[in-house]
Amino acid sequence: MAGATHDTDLAAGYKEALEKAITEVIRPDAGQVDARGEFPSRGLDALAKAGILGLASAQEVGGAGHSLRTAASVIERLAMECGSTAMVTLMHYAATAVIEAHGPREIRSAISRGEHLTTLAFSEYGSRSHFWSPVGTANRGDDTTVRLDAKKSWVTSADHADSYVWSSRPVSAEGAMTLWLVPAKTPGLVVAGPFDGLGLRGNGSRPMSAENLRVPADAQMAGDGAGLDVALTTALPWFLVLNSAFCLGLAESAVEEARRHLTVTRLRHTGAVLRDAPVTRRDFARLRVRTDALRALLDDTLAARENEREDAIFRVLEIKAFAGEVAAEVTDGAMQLCGGGAFRKELGLERTFRDSRAARVMAPTTDALYDFVGRLYTGMPLMDEGNR
Ligand SMILES: Cc1cc2nc3c(=O)[nH]c(=O)nc-3n(C[C@H](O)[C@H](O)[C@H](O)COP(=O)(O)OP(=O)(O)OC[C@H]3O[C@@H](n4cnc5c(N)ncnc54)[C@H](O)[C@@H]3O)c2cc1C
Repeated sequence: MAGATHDTDLAAGYKEALEKAITEVIRPDAGQVDARGEFPSRGLDALAKAGILGLASAQEVGGAGHSLRTAASVIERLAMECGSTAMVTLMHYAATAVIEAHGPREIRSAISRGEHLTTLAFSEYGSRSHFWSPVGTANRGDDTTVRLDAKKSWVTSADHADSYVWSSRPVSAEGAMTLWLVPAKTPGLVVAGPFDGLGLRGNGSRPMSAENLRVPADAQMAGDGAGLDVALTTALPWFLVLNSAFCLGLAESAVEEARRHLTVTRLRHTGAVLRDAPVTRRDFARLRVRTDALRALLDDTLAARENEREDAIFRVLEIKAFAGEVAAEVTDGAMQLCGGGAFRKELGLERTFRDSRAARVMAPTTDALYDFVGRLYTGMPLMDEGNR
């Protein structure tokens, strides 16, 4: 496939730049980002400079026009080093997909140059993880403006993003949702609380509220009431696949740490290393096989989309449910295999373990995804009308 070859060629250049950003900034900063709950600004600057933040932007606006597959490989690699940086980047790519399809050209160009960080502001206190049913409102202001009011419960990169892809109830149309591009400096947009999380402590997922916030009417992306379709068909595939790549990176990093620990740790009184115990080898192999299974399913999900296979929608929904479980199980198993050393911070494994708890509760949550998959396989609609 010509497109795939082109993408692979371009990806090679980015790989080198990505590794440089990781080695020089992201890896050295990762411990401090976690310990202090600091937003990884230096890492993001390095990624911007390396062209990684503009990687998913179209070539027509100066971007690299990379595929979801390349973006997934970037997120996997980042998650192996710093979960917070990976999460900020993945939310940026998911929001970029919406802006690429429905946003203004100048913002698309700024993203392509790495000068504009964006994110999704979907989840609300009112409808919690059911982001498909926003309760925040959009009302006509005067002829040229719209008033937004909402209480968003979690927004990654809050206070650091340059714009927010924002969901609300429609202004007047039928439908569940309308999407807006809200610039960070809009009066009435407030970061409404801190973030002191178990894991991903630097991703800055803070609550935000809009109080009498005015945006120009043309900040609307797609039509009034068309937001849910855009969220499901444009934002969601990127979010679900990249979140799965994020889980894969965490799992790979935990398995590698377990492999290293079992291979080098010796019991002086017997001379045996930990891998000499068959039960330990079996437990390690289980983690390796789970991680390989996730990689294979992620690869198949990407292939299903690239080849426009009929089962692509199933794969895209399945993959994050599976990935969230694998990341949680594998990091837990690696903690057990690495013993007391893992309980202390010296191996870095406990950070990966804590970071891995997030994916299952990021919406659509694992529960919601299994429900969606069960519905589609049994001939039901994805959601009941009443639940929207
Ligand atoms: C690190 C992190 C970063 C985030 N970043 C963003 C972001 O950038 N933008 C954004 O919009 N959101 C973001 N979120 C929010 C996320 O997408 C979810 O909305 C949020 O985690 C849901 O938490 P909650 O307590 O509101 O869940 P609740 O909705 O209260 O759910 C609690 C539990 O109940 C389950 N549950 C809920 N309803 C049902 C049901 N009908 N059937 C069965 N089980 C059900 C859920 O699966 C979950 O396990 C982030 C979350 C985290 C943890």
